[in-house]
Amino acid sequence: MASNIQTLPAPAAVSQPPSAAALLKLSGELWSATNLVSVVATARALLDELVPGTKVQRSARGIGTQVTARAFGPQLQIPLSRRELLLITAPGEDDCHGLLQAAARLIKARVEALRKQIALADSVEHLGRSERLQRALYAIADQASTVNADVDAMFHTLHGIVGTLMYAENFFIAMYDEEHDSVHFSYWADSKDTQLPFTTRDVSMADLPHGPTWYLIREGKPLMGSMQSIARQVDVRKVDGPFKFSGSDPVDWLGVPLLHDGKVVGCVVVQSYDEAHHYTDQDKTLLIFVAQHIQTALERRLARVELERRVSERTEALQQQVLERQRGERLQEALFRIAELTNTTDSIEAFYGTVHQVVSGLLYARNFYIALTSEDGSEMTFPYLADEYDDSRQPRKLGDGLTEYALRHGALLADASEIARLRAAGEVTQHGHDSVCWLGVPLACAERTVGVLAVQSYSPEHRYTQRDQELLTFVSYHIANALERMRAKESLRQAYAQLETRVDERTRALALVNRNLRDQITERERIEARLKHETLHDSLTGLPNRALLMQRLGQALARYHADPTRGFAVLFMDLDRFKVINDSVGHLVGDDLLFQVGKRIGACLKPDDMVARLGGDEFSVLLEGIADADQAGRIAARIIDDLNAPFRLASKELFTSTSIGVTLASPHYQSPEELLRDADSAMYRAKAEGRHRWVVFGDDLRKEAVSLLEVENDLRRGVKRHEFVPYYQPIVNLDDGSVIGYEALMRWRHPRRSILLPGDFLAVAEETGLSETMDWQIFEQVCRDANALVGRDDIFVGINLSANHFRDPKLDQRLLGLLAEYGVPASRLRVEVTERALLENTPEVKRIFHAFRHAGIGISLDDFGTGYSSLSYLHQYTLQTLKIDRSFVADLTRDDTGGRTTMIRAILAMAETLSIPAIAEGVETTLQRDVLRKMGCRHGQGFLYSKAQPIDVWIGGDAPVFSS
Ligand code: C2E
Ligand code: CA
Ligand code: CA
Repeated sequence: MASNIQTLPAPAAVSQPPSAAALLKLSGELWSATNLVSVVATARALLDELVPGTKVQRSARGIGTQVTARAFGPQLQIPLSRRELLLITAPGEDDCHGLLQAAARLIKARVEALRKQIALADSVEHLGRSERLQRALYAIADQASTVNADVDAMFHTLHGIVGTLMYAENFFIAMYDEEHDSVHFSYWADSKDTQLPFTTRDVSMADLPHGPTWYLIREGKPLMGSMQSIARQVDVRKVDGPFKFSGSDPVDWLGVPLLHDGKVVGCVVVQSYDEAHHYTDQDKTLLIFVAQHIQTALERRLARVELERRVSERTEALQQQVLERQRGERLQEALFRIAELTNTTDSIEAFYGTVHQVVSGLLYARNFYIALTSEDGSEMTFPYLADEYDDSRQPRKLGDGLTEYALRHGALLADASEIARLRAAGEVTQHGHDSVCWLGVPLACAERTVGVLAVQSYSPEHRYTQRDQELLTFVSYHIANALERMRAKESLRQAYAQLETRVDERTRALALVNRNLRDQITERERIEARLKHETLHDSLTGLPNRALLMQRLGQALARYHADPTRGFAVLFMDLDRFKVINDSVGHLVGDDLLFQVGKRIGACLKPDDMVARLGGDEFSVLLEGIADADQAGRIAARIIDDLNAPFRLASKELFTSTSIGVTLASPHYQSPEELLRDADSAMYRAKAEGRHRWVVFGDDLRKEAVSLLEVENDLRRGVKRHEFVPYYQPIVNLDDGSVIGYEALMRWRHPRRSILLPGDFLAVAEETGLSETMDWQIFEQVCRDANALVGRDDIFVGINLSANHFRDPKLDQRLLGLLAEYGVPASRLRVEVTERALLENTPEVKRIFHAFRHAGIGISLDDFGTGYSSLSYLHQYTLQTLKIDRSFVADLTRDDTGGRTTMIRAILAMAETLSIPAIAEGVETTLQRDVLRKMGCRHGQGFLYSKAQPIDVWIGGDAPVFSS
């Protein structure tokens, strides 16, 4: 207190010294007053005491002074703020003037001190806020690049991040789907309405009450306040009915839209049920800003998740195919050995011995025997036996042994407990030593069952599986047919050599297709950073910001379009591991690092180039006068090298590195955003390829990605507008040219192009999951056409059922339902399936096939010979026909004795063994027809007869007969 008095300068014109005691008191009370109001009140009370009649009043600045200057005697003014001042008016005696002036100085000093304190507190709070915001933005950006955690976890983290910036106990994110006009509540956290107040996460806008969320999505403008206040803010005239909302009534609600290219794609909302938490304009500004970052993060993240999903799907499918192929190869080898047996073995004993060897190559067959039934089926002999315990087995009348059981039931796979159960039930008695596991399958040729093939294990480490049973069944089938197939042996072997080459070729082609697809998907990943800054420079680094970069890119692009020799390149980069650095050394050092990085990048550039900070740790560079990728690459490489050198910051050595994506100017770029987006994509690839490198975005890949995207969009429209129709191709009897059926083939009546064939679009349709929907549209039309097309004569219509349909457990019900709806007898329908569908071979697939057969629907095996050569499953399904792929028919030329006919001969031989008639596809010439006929093929389809034609061509008039 004392110091206050001593520092007071002596008043200039004082006739009487001011009362030291009074001033001391004034000073003491003033300094204990904590804000302006209490300072004024204290001053008022004490001054009146010092010099009675003194007036102390707050007044607007600039008015009071002039009016009151003379009228009320001496007057002192003390500025309180920019707009206010304190007027001290003495009652008029000159002698108190000095005293008042001293008091005024005291008051002034106190007011000054208070002002500084407030300013300091303000700036401390501001600093805290911007630091929190910085952290939050880094954390959000970081979410975009986290690839592993699932999307739900990401939303949860975003919630946490927003919670560091404002009161966000109740928080949700909803995404808007323009195509379906619906919202998806991606994330929902609410202390009162713990469950989403809707039954599903997807709610159509029509079902959403006309409340704050509805208006937020429709109007795309932030909304804030109580429900009553928001009801007043929105334009309720736009809709019928009053403002309504679902869920509990919040005290305060704040929602901002998520925008993409100016369109609403979703919203972020916080709400409060607590009087203690209201939202301010500052919160609103903050949430708008943060929402932009969330939107960017979401986009990048979702694109990445989608990419991952597609890539892994593709990889899995490829692995599956390789596995199946290996399995097929092993089986083929066994098949060959069996086919050779009759030639290479002299005695029947040697034959059986080799059969045992073959079986051993496929499964555990230490104990193995062959049982044969006599012609009349009454007796059983055991011509071959290899067993750890038994030397031989005597012939016997058919009884209740395990062998007989397998014979009667079509197979038996049983472990010790199962055998015990069968025994207890009186169904079997086991001859020979008790086994731990027993597996027997019938030896069946096309017409009858001749015996049983059995393997057994006496030790627990060897057990048989369903898979072993399938293998053994397969082998047994071929063993039984070994003799019959002697005739076709030579041709078979050649055929299989060809088959193998084909499988190889297909596998290679498939791998290529898959690789291309993967690349395309990478291209399609669009990463867009949309930081919008008010000014053109970044406050942290002083570098140009995104807005300025965009301006410059726009200008460069315009110059380039006018004069293509003025090429340029855009680099996009971020710092590897920046978040780690930022978290470990603190964000002030992190900021400093960003600053230094900006300087180093700048040092690599020419004066015309520009480096900009896009936000977070992302930088972009515009390189002018770039002719080719090499030139841009050299600069990118230099930047990478320079950033690799350590940074000295806060007496520490810090290391960071960068990956750079490069886009070169090219005529198809229309906007700076596209350039930056592709550079970002390229950077992502650089990272994926192992960081610390640069990658140029390739133009060719982009084109593919775009056209794929276009087809996809077109397809969706086509499905909506029912542009897919069946055309019918007749299947004829090669001998007399009569029509035995039709195959329905899908055509696309594209509004802007000619009629499109499946080859033009089916791959994309399958890729995007649209093909099933398209198929069902075809199936329905086929059913509608069927009675007119095939009703009169006893013929069929075939539809193509891709393997994917068998994933739908209701497939049979649905198809049968469709037939019933249009009154089409099931026997008129034939489904064409490829080997792939049979290969799945799950109980479910078997059940569906069985249901088809049971209902009377015929099954055709399509494209036979091009599949994965796993013929093992063939005899398990009752097939109506087998369609020889047209590539084999195309091979048929004049010289019908050479190697070219081998494949078809082998297939026809196989079809005959299986007693399934074959249909040759793609018969184009009379020569092909004649060769086929000579080889015993009865049916065919192809351009020789007719291409697929619309329904009108085939109905009305008599059934067509083609010349034979
Ligand atoms: P696919 O089942 O093997 O059908 C036979 C294909 O051979 C048809 O091609 C047909 O037009 C063509 N073709 C017939 N005769 C000849 C000929 O003499 N010479 C030549 N070069 N080609 C002939 P399309 O219509 O282009 O269909 C191609 C494939 O698309 C079909 O092969 C089938 O796998 C698939 N597909 C067709 N329609 C549908 C459908 O409705 N659903 C599904 N899932 N796939 C379909
Ligand atoms: Ca077909
Ligand atoms: Ca075919």
